[in-house]
Amino acid sequence: MMSGTNLSSAARDAILASVEATFDAQLAFTMDLVRFPSMRGNEAPVQDFLHAELSRRGYAMDRWRVRAEDISHHPGFSPIAVSYEQAWCVVGTHRPREEKGRSLILNSHIDVVPPGPVDMWADHPFDPKIRDGWLYGRGGADMKAGTAINVFAMDAIRAAGFQPAATVHVESVMDEESTGNGALSSLLRGYRAAAWFCPEPTHETVTRANAGVVWFKIEVRGRPAHTREMQSGFNAIDAAYRIVGALRELEARYNAERADHPLFADDPHPINLNLGQIRGGDWTSMVPAWCEVELRFAMYPGVSADKVRRDVESCVAAAAARDPALANNPPAVTWHGFFCEGFELKPGSEAEIALNAAGMAANSRPIEGQIMPAYLDARVPMLYGGMPALVYGPVSREVHGIDERCDVESIRRCTRTLALFIADWCGLEPIER
Ligand SMILES: [Zn+2]
Repeated sequence: MMSGTNLSSAARDAILASVEATFDAQLAFTMDLVRFPSMRGNEAPVQDFLHAELSRRGYAMDRWRVRAEDISHHPGFSPIAVSYEQAWCVVGTHRPREEKGRSLILNSHIDVVPPGPVDMWADHPFDPKIRDGWLYGRGGADMKAGTAINVFAMDAIRAAGFQPAATVHVESVMDEESTGNGALSSLLRGYRAAAWFCPEPTHETVTRANAGVVWFKIEVRGRPAHTREMQSGFNAIDAAYRIVGALRELEARYNAERADHPLFADDPHPINLNLGQIRGGDWTSMVPAWCEVELRFAMYPGVSADKVRRDVESCVAAAAARDPALANNPPAVTWHGFFCEGFELKPGSEAEIALNAAGMAANSRPIEGQIMPAYLDARVPMLYGGMPALVYGPVSREVHGIDERCDVESIRRCTRTLALFIADWCGLEPIER
């Protein structure tokens, strides 16, 4: 027996050898996934591809379309302003001959954020390349490398002559980058397990806590005028800047409160307000009659999304009341997209102890904790599913940026860790050949 895990050294060595043997195929599979530009609303083709891949491997398959009306009653729902006509989730389920171990969900999200200006990329964002030990491409790190880690860690166990002695659900959900409704839908469809795992690119750390996230839009109406009589008009874009300025003060106040949230106290700026999109005006020599800004705000775990909504709305109302031009014409604030709270993973859970043991057995290095000041789907199992959620995945650079990339050796280490974690957590039974 090895220290830490319950695996025999023969089983451990056979599984790790299988990870090595299929690693090139794993990278090729990851690049196949990256070639699908699975931005929000366009996840269906890659979900079809995954469905076929998991089905070919013998999983019991489930595929369903997420419908807002099925999940909107739940407090974890995020409101949407887009169509879910093509919003598919895919789950492949492994069932053992005899349920002896602990069950597991291997989750990943298949949606990616837009590439931004393609001419800023060294290569086309959806034409993945491996260079100098890095796998480049939009969504490669976040998180198609993770989707492939889930699939190939399971493959490695089978290739070594075993299968998990517990139920394992391999999940690919949609719409993580804007709502988390895919993960919520999968929980409400009944997918639960003794632990929940997701290989987001966390630099080989396990996520100790993450921030909640909300999205909102502010619409300002002005009064158009010819620029020779500019003073007779009212500039909606200028006014939107003043409103954003007021929200920056709220952001500063939230960040000043970080001492009350010990896990976030060392981050100099854990709560970020991002002015993500701006639209407005119709003509350069015309005082703009309208401006819309779209913003993303964060919150500490334990703070409700409703509290942030109230704070934002009263901040905007107070700023408008102080502004002669806005007092009788207050901006409208609407909420769509993320409306999600954060979570904290208390140290010492059995799942985390097992993951650490697997990491030591696989790579001879401990897995440190990390604080994530951004959204993770892990809030769904943690807040609403009563499941311990482990977020642990590869080293990456420029996630949501230009030339997003994922460290190939780190992908290998994470696959080794996950394969041993599954084997240890679920137990093993011999495969029938
Ligand atoms: Zn992600």
